[in-house]
Amino acid sequence: MVILTQISLAVFGMRKMARAGSVEVMSPVMSKRLILIAGALSAWSTVRCAVTSVVTLCVSTLLGLFLVFSQPVLADSEIVVSNVRLGQQGDLTRLVIDMGQRGGTPQNVFTLSDPYRVVIDLPEVVFQLPSQAGLTSKGLVTGFRFGQFQAGLSRIVVDTTGPVAIARHFALAPQSGFGHRLVIDLKSVTPTEFSQSVGLGRPLTVPATVAPPVTTPQEPTDRRSGKRIVVIDAGHGGVDPGTHGRSGVNEKDVVLKFALELASQLRSSGRYEVHMTRDSDRFIPLRERVNITRHHHADLFISIHADAIDRRNVSGMSIYTLSETSSDKEAAALAAKENLSDVIAGVDLQGESSEVTNILIDLAQRETKNFSVRFAQTVVRNANGVTPLLDRTHRFAGFRVLKAPDVPSVLVELGFLTNRADERNLTSSSWRRRVAGSLVKSVDSYFGERYAEGSY
Ligand SMILES: [Zn+2]
Repeated sequence: MVILTQISLAVFGMRKMARAGSVEVMSPVMSKRLILIAGALSAWSTVRCAVTSVVTLCVSTLLGLFLVFSQPVLADSEIVVSNVRLGQQGDLTRLVIDMGQRGGTPQNVFTLSDPYRVVIDLPEVVFQLPSQAGLTSKGLVTGFRFGQFQAGLSRIVVDTTGPVAIARHFALAPQSGFGHRLVIDLKSVTPTEFSQSVGLGRPLTVPATVAPPVTTPQEPTDRRSGKRIVVIDAGHGGVDPGTHGRSGVNEKDVVLKFALELASQLRSSGRYEVHMTRDSDRFIPLRERVNITRHHHADLFISIHADAIDRRNVSGMSIYTLSETSSDKEAAALAAKENLSDVIAGVDLQGESSEVTNILIDLAQRETKNFSVRFAQTVVRNANGVTPLLDRTHRFAGFRVLKAPDVPSVLVELGFLTNRADERNLTSSSWRRRVAGSLVKSVDSYFGERYAEGSY
């Protein structure tokens, strides 16, 4: 019995270690799997101990358990970032990135302004940071975000109190219980010094999809399927988590689940060719979302988001269409917030040319705006009674993601993650099914009306 208790304690201890993240190279899935193996072995050893009463056998089983746990369990290729620690050393603020037993070399470290940030690009890693990581400030650092930036590239974006320079950076090999570490020291500089300083390299440019030339939205385009083309855009993703709710649920995850449900319902109707700007947890720059939409010659673009606000009693769905002048202050503030996505993800916007404007785009955009407004009104009608609506449900503002000149586009804010009832809805699969269903109905009647009018 004593030995059995010891085995149980050992298994319990390992579970605790795995939960606390002490087993640095273990993913949550792997640790669960190992707990199952440990549980099975523990049950098996119980039987053996009872039947044979051979103490040594039980002890060897116990040793076997330890051997199972001491083996590296992640694929060799996986680098685990288990923490990003902040410290202050004199004038320098130090970031230490814990990179487990495998380690990895940063591909790029650089600074950006407006607002001031430090971007650290790593080869693709698995982030297993503590739940509150990135939310506290220290020295020159006010917080940080992390996630996938593009295929094969993970990114940490560090917000700073002002202009900083990378004083030095170096890697440390495993030692004294720590795995591989990457150390970056930041120092405060003047704005002039900032503009002269460089990091390890320059920002990577995001490969862009080539968009087709602008056409008016009435003009039919070449289509293989003959179906109407709808592009569903799940907001944020990867290194940009969007807003978050009371329980810590991230906008990027909630909107992806909803977008997948909507895409699946539209596809199963058999009436639409559906494309998604993302179908996994990855970052897509705003301009790229517009380019993807135009590349597919979309007939309709629906961007899915969820909001958050200090006033916790505010709730309900709202829908936005593009306008240079906002319908109200809240809509303007929301657009400004959603337009920050590229800034949050550390995209260098310096090289981006200003919006292309010519007469053709203006003409197309005016026509497009009318169709966008009509679709938005249909959505409000059909959502009424299905989910709570924010007052003045349809609003206007300058969202960058709605700027495809020839594709009717709307942005849906499903609800507020900061409101208890809305958060419950946003994380409920049956609510997702119902609200996605009402959107499908709106898409149907929108195209039905346009067909009846001879717009196609
Ligand atoms: Zn959003």
